[in-house]
Amino acid sequence: TGDSKDFDSEVNSICPFCGVGCQVSLKVKDGNVKYVEGINGPANEGRLCVKGRFGFDYIHHPHRLTKPLVRREDAPAKGLNVDPGNWQTHFREATWDEALDIAANGLKGRGREVAGFGSAKCTNEEAYLFQKFIRQGFGHNNVDHCTRLCHASSVAALMENVGSGAVTATFNEIKNADVAIVIGANPIENHPVAATFFKQFTKRGGKLIVMDPRGVGLRRFATHMLQFRPGADVSMLNAIMHTIVEEKLYDQQYIEAYTENWEAEKAHLKDFSPEKMSEICGIDPETLRTVAREFANAKAAMIFWGMGISQHIHGTDNSRCLISLALMTGQVGRPGAGLHPLRGQNNVQGASDAGLIPMFLPDYQSVTDDGVRSAFADVWNSGDFSNEKGLTVTEIMDAVHDDQIKAMYILGENPAMSDPDVDHARDALAKLDHLVVQDIFITETANYADVILPASAFYGKSGTVTNTNRQVQMGRPAVAPPGEAREDWAITVDLAKRCGLNWDYASPADVFAEMKLNMNSLNNITWDRLENENAVTYPSLSPTDPGQPIVFGDGFPRAEGRARFTPASVIAPDETPDAEYPMILTTGRQLEHWHTGSMTRRSKVLDAVEPEANCSLHPSTLRKLSVEPGGHVRLTTRRGTITLMARADRAVAPDMVFVPFAFVEAAANILTNSAIDPYGKIPEFKFAAVKVEKADEQ
Ligand code: SF4
Repeated sequence: TGDSKDFDSEVNSICPFCGVGCQVSLKVKDGNVKYVEGINGPANEGRLCVKGRFGFDYIHHPHRLTKPLVRREDAPAKGLNVDPGNWQTHFREATWDEALDIAANGLKGRGREVAGFGSAKCTNEEAYLFQKFIRQGFGHNNVDHCTRLCHASSVAALMENVGSGAVTATFNEIKNADVAIVIGANPIENHPVAATFFKQFTKRGGKLIVMDPRGVGLRRFATHMLQFRPGADVSMLNAIMHTIVEEKLYDQQYIEAYTENWEAEKAHLKDFSPEKMSEICGIDPETLRTVAREFANAKAAMIFWGMGISQHIHGTDNSRCLISLALMTGQVGRPGAGLHPLRGQNNVQGASDAGLIPMFLPDYQSVTDDGVRSAFADVWNSGDFSNEKGLTVTEIMDAVHDDQIKAMYILGENPAMSDPDVDHARDALAKLDHLVVQDIFITETANYADVILPASAFYGKSGTVTNTNRQVQMGRPAVAPPGEAREDWAITVDLAKRCGLNWDYASPADVFAEMKLNMNSLNNITWDRLENENAVTYPSLSPTDPGQPIVFGDGFPRAEGRARFTPASVIAPDETPDAEYPMILTTGRQLEHWHTGSMTRRSKVLDAVEPEANCSLHPSTLRKLSVEPGGHVRLTTRRGTITLMARADRAVAPDMVFVPFAFVEAAANILTNSAIDPYGKIPEFKFAAVKVEKADEQ
């Protein structure tokens, strides 16, 4: 930080990394962001983590794209072979007119041969325009984004059983709770500012129950740490609920007033005694019973979860269990009570709300509903489009291999790093006969592009984003995009016009105004309000209501206002360890790096702290392998092999290895399994069978 002489101007915006949505003040000098301070947003109350405070300088990195690029006719065959600092062997610069013409000519008129990936890194307005571009321009719903790799199964369970995909209470509500469960999440690394509120909750006597196959950092603050067997979530949660039923600790009044299917849930849970489940989940029966009693007897309790819950082939079942646990104890819709899937990207909530998903139009209105489609067609002044649910992220890649999809428009996503079994995705990208990538760097995905459109970083654009708390917040530009780079919304508008769409938007505010016509969630939220107030939580009940932090106190948006119990059975992971692949691979993020690393690995401070591809193994496992901490190991699954530095970490069970997925030189997703959850269609990033060997020193 510095004093007021250090900058020429200051601009308030939103941190571009995680779903916490911290509000920031950007200090700008000579057209560059010099430093960042936290301000008093509703989610962060002035706090920032290391990424928000020090991870902004990627926006000034020399690799930033400054001009449109088109693939050279004499370029080498498509592959992961472009040096982002020396791309001239593969691409040539083009004018915007030429690049947009080439981009549009390769897409227009191709109907179902086209698919699109939008981005949870872009604004709500950009997400809305992107899904409209695919639906209106090509007549179908083959449009998706990284929610499919993140919380799609949580949303599937919430939509099914609660009637809404968003959180029922903000994470800040933990201040009113006396018990909280954090399961399958590592907030100290992945939602660091939210974690500070969780720690404060324990300091004032709140009971924190942490459940995770890894001994995540919050264990140090926990009343109970349940380090259960990977993939055994359902057996553990059903055993806890079994105890609540057996000891009659449930809230009969709440169940009768606000739920359905209780008798079926109760009957189902009979088979899940703690004694029986203990062997599967690895937690002793008495601990399961104690935790059940503490949660059920809480005056107010919250449940937080992350991708440890969602990224399994039984991810929807995992979330169903958490929903059932909250419903049977009446822990929804009151201060300090609620269900909160901690959303990952800064705008994954907003992009999903804006309809950037293949089965729903904005506000989760089904594409199969004729009335809904006709309402959107009216606003868009266009004809009807397909009533079939579109393909999801991984299904689109399969459809490329099957020759059904031949052209793609990818905005701000990096499937060449983020997809499971990533060589399969990379081969699909190479196979496309037309790929338009819009981004700020030549990402791994842009390596395969025919046209690259240079876009704006978050601190170079205007627009709204919605955080994990349902808070719609205003992002403002602090710096101009470099060179000829442009704001994403404006690029999509120009591409749409060249594809024959009659679009006429002068600003993101125009797009927001159109979104409001068919999105009740934005009632009482206007662009002007957001300009003045910076954030409004939806639902907002009046033009002056800052929004409702807690919802569903008087029933649920389902038939008769009742939430539903959906019993969950134990389903084994898709791939289990065997003699050849005897250990368990699990993947995730680490504090200093964000997702596929395209931004944070170009941030000096963050890259200096965590410069090398790494994995974590228990010290006893390293000893068995005769590998010193800091030495290298070779990891092999049925999909491929990577070699990377090994750290000793007692938090990882002896038969597990944890690999962050930010490092292209040892991409974790070369190893991961693409088997998907049947409801949320989310891949099983959290469990694969792996062989771990000592590698030759590098
Ligand atoms: Fe940014 Fe998330 Fe850190 Fe807040 S907690 S500063 S939103 S990365």
